[in-house]
Amino acid sequence: MAKFIGAWCLLMLSAPLAMLWLWPNFNPGATTNAIVKLCVLLGFVCAAALAFTYSLERKWSRSARRLEDFASALPAIQTDLPDDGLAELRSLSRAMQAMSGRIRQVVERAGLESSRRETILACMAEGVLAVDTSLKVIFCNDAFARAFDSRTPVMQGRPLYELVREPLLREVLERVLQTGNAEKDRFQLPSAAGRWFEARALPLGENPRRGAVIVLHDVTDIHRQEEVRKDFVADVSHELRTPLAAIRGYAETLLDGALEDQANNRKFVEIIASHAIRLNNIASDLLVISELDSNPSLPWPPERVPVLEVIDSATHTVQEAAATRGVHLKRVNCTECSATGYRFRLEQAIVNLLDNAVKFNRPDGEVTIECGYANEDRVQVSISDTGIGIPSEDLKRIFDRFYRVDRARSRGTGGTGLGLAIVKEVVEGMGGSVSAESQLGRGSKFTILLQAA
Ligand code: ADP
Repeated sequence: MAKFIGAWCLLMLSAPLAMLWLWPNFNPGATTNAIVKLCVLLGFVCAAALAFTYSLERKWSRSARRLEDFASALPAIQTDLPDDGLAELRSLSRAMQAMSGRIRQVVERAGLESSRRETILACMAEGVLAVDTSLKVIFCNDAFARAFDSRTPVMQGRPLYELVREPLLREVLERVLQTGNAEKDRFQLPSAAGRWFEARALPLGENPRRGAVIVLHDVTDIHRQEEVRKDFVADVSHELRTPLAAIRGYAETLLDGALEDQANNRKFVEIIASHAIRLNNIASDLLVISELDSNPSLPWPPERVPVLEVIDSATHTVQEAAATRGVHLKRVNCTECSATGYRFRLEQAIVNLLDNAVKFNRPDGEVTIECGYANEDRVQVSISDTGIGIPSEDLKRIFDRFYRVDRARSRGTGGTGLGLAIVKEVVEGMGGSVSAESQLGRGSKFTILLQAA
C-alpha cells in the first residue's frame, strides 16, 4: 500500500512538472493556457493530498505493526503497549493490553494444571501410556516404563514397538484407535516378568482422534489370590467328598441288611464315626483358616504372651492323645520368656505342632519341647519328635494347605492337611516365622521364632 501511494505521489508530482517542461511546445492560446494552469493546480493538490495520505498511512502501519508484533509475541511478552499513536488504534491497543493479561493468566493456569497432572501421573502406581494415531509415544509415566524395564524418561515420539513388544497391548491400542470405543481387558504380559495387568484403554480426542491412552493396573497379587481361592475351593470339595462318600456308602450298606450282620455291623458304624470325626476336623480347621483369611480386627497393640504358660496349656491338651499312643512329652531347657502376639493363636499353633509330633511318632516315642530367648529380640519355641520324619523333597511343601506326605496315613489319624498351614499363618500373622527340619525315619523338629515382648 505504501509503495503504491508513493508511486502515485511521484506520478502526480511529475505531471505538473512535465507540463511546465513541455510548455513551450504547446500552442499558446487562452484556453490552452487555462487548462495547463488548471492541470498544474490539480496536480499540486493531488500530490499534496496523496503526500498527506501517505504520511497518515505510515503512521497507521507503524501502529498496526506494533500491535501485530505484540499479538504474535503473546503470551510470552512482558512489556506493556505504550498508550500513544493514533486515537483510532489507541482503544484497540488498550483492549489488546487487557486481553494479553487474561491470556497470560489462562496460560499460567493451564501450565500449572498440566504440571500438576504430570506430577500425579508420575507418582501413580498404575502405568500410563498415551500414543498418537501412528502408535508413537506421546506420554509414558515411570510406572509403565518400569513395568517393561525401559529406561526413563521415555522420549516423546518413540515408536511403541521399541518400548513394548507385546502384541496384546498393541492390539488393544489399535482397536481403540480404530473403533473409538473404550476397552477393558486382563492379560499376562511376558515382557513384564509375566505379571498380570488389568488394562483400560480410551481414545484421545473425539474428532479428530488424536491417539489413545492405556492405563495398566498390576493385578498379579489379586490374580494369584483368586487362583489360590479357586484351588482352595477345589481342594475343600475334594477333601469333603471322600469322608462323605464313605459315610454314605457304609450307611447304605447297613441299611441294605448289614445291620443284621453281627460280625461287621459294629466295624461299619466305627468307620462312619471316624469319617464323621474327620469331617468335623475339616470343618473346624476350615473355620480357623477362614477366620485367619478374613483378617479380623485383633486388639492392637498385640499382647505380651507368657510362652511357658501357653506351652503348659497346649501340652495339657494333647496329653491324653499322647498317653493313648504311648508317646512321652517332655520339656527341656524351657526358660520363662514373653513374646509379642496373641495367646489363643499361639496356643493353637503349638497344639497343632504337638498333635503332629504325637500322631507321626512311634510307640514309646518322645516329643521334646524347648523354649527361651534366641537372642535379645527373638523368642524361640521348638518341638522335636522321634517319629517317622519327613522326606526332604516334601519339606518345602508341608506348610501348603491340604498338603500331606502320606495321604492314607494322615487320613487314618484324622488329619486334614490344614494343621501346618494354620501354624504358618498364625505365626507369620504375629510377625514371626516357622521352619522345619527332619530326618526320614528319625524324627522332625519344628521351630517357631517370635518377637520378644
Ligand atoms: P495333617 O492334618 O495331615 O497332620 P498338617 O498340615 O498338620 O496336616 O501336616 C501336613 C503333613 O506334614 C502331614 O500330613 C504329614 O505328612 C507331615 N507332618 C507334619 N508334621 C509331621 C511330623 N511331626 N512328623 C512327620 N510328618 C509330619
